[in-house]
Amino acid sequence: MIDETHDPDLLSWVESANGPEADFPIQNLPFAVLRRNGTAERFRPALAIGDQALDLHELHRTGLIRSSALDACMGSTLNPLMALGAAVTAGFRRDLSRLLRVDSKHVKTLETCLIPLSQVEYALPCEIGDYTDFFTSIHHATNTGRLFRPDSPLLPNYRWVPVGYHGRSSSIGVSGQTFPRPRGQIVLPGEESPVFEACRRLDYELELGIFVGAGNAQGQPVQMDDAADHVFGLCLLNDWSARDIQAWEYQPLGPFLAKNFATTISPWIVTSDALAPFRVPWTRADGEPDALPHLSSESNRTQGAIDVHLEVQIQTASMRSQGLPPYTLSRSNFTDSYWTVSQLVAHHTSSGCNLRAGDLLGSGTMSGAVAGSEGALIEITRGGANPVSLPNGETRAFLEDGDTVILGGYCARQGFRRIGFGTAVGTVLPAAPGAA
Ligand code: MN
Repeated sequence: MIDETHDPDLLSWVESANGPEADFPIQNLPFAVLRRNGTAERFRPALAIGDQALDLHELHRTGLIRSSALDACMGSTLNPLMALGAAVTAGFRRDLSRLLRVDSKHVKTLETCLIPLSQVEYALPCEIGDYTDFFTSIHHATNTGRLFRPDSPLLPNYRWVPVGYHGRSSSIGVSGQTFPRPRGQIVLPGEESPVFEACRRLDYELELGIFVGAGNAQGQPVQMDDAADHVFGLCLLNDWSARDIQAWEYQPLGPFLAKNFATTISPWIVTSDALAPFRVPWTRADGEPDALPHLSSESNRTQGAIDVHLEVQIQTASMRSQGLPPYTLSRSNFTDSYWTVSQLVAHHTSSGCNLRAGDLLGSGTMSGAVAGSEGALIEITRGGANPVSLPNGETRAFLEDGDTVILGGYCARQGFRRIGFGTAVGTVLPAAPGAA
């Protein structure tokens, strides 16, 4: 729903929120969990406004808002707030928006709740009980399918089932995450038997993460018309992938160790409410089948897709030491998705599976149809055959130790304020000492 909080003319008394390029204008109001850098303070929920965080524990102390939503923010995770559901969080957003507008009568008090974003460190925004990764870009599915299975790149189920697998939540980290290059079973070129070695074909995947809000009872699938009410918001998600381990292990049960060593998300969750102005019709190319009835609804057709611009950049260790800025590898858009967020939620629960507040769904690698929109190195380099040239003369077929990958995203539409996702940053470290 579009309401007063989306008014493009709203300005905040936090002046840094009012610039046209600000990721966090008053129309955004994303949530994270943070504390002051390098302190032993308790991590707590906060809201972003311009270049500041509004500490929700401090806000509670001021007594300016009394609501079940703010009470739910008094812990160290966002799960209790997420569980309250869409109607409550929409009201909370309106209350927060009013406090942060230029005409607020409480600026002096509220200023005591601000912490500069340059002085915070983040935790995961919630306890992620379960993590599921989907595969919703048909372009990514076709590009990678061709490399793994040249004869049948797109399997027949793809156009009917939102294909996914149950991932690993324990290794999900917030932006700034570092992790050692994984080791695993790899079949070297020309060999038939595997060796156990450090991954040689390490990749990123440019994805959006979808946080579940209110859950559903086991045995009671979420219907398409209700699915949007079960989504708290979106973040950026890098599904780091070991392609050589994946190629050997993935059949017949799907990804396992190739994906379970690290996943990096952005700290700020952009809420479903903030994304409302950027909803667009869900369409498929001519000749593609319509979804089955349990994955269809009128509102999904008219406004099921979300227009999110996505970008991935790399900065190698040598670029960092030369003071060179990150280099953009590709750009794509969430409208490249073959399935919508509501369809993922409805499909996930259609068996009777219960989702819980704070569960995370990955969209799958967002690749578009054209060159320059591939969401993973394996697609950009055609399986490593055509390495990317970087501005300092380095090349990359796959990621090297010390490489930092930076995901970014934003929404923009005529008549509304641009809102941003911030970044999800992760860095590959050398493989830990091991057997090989
Ligand atoms: Mn993935």
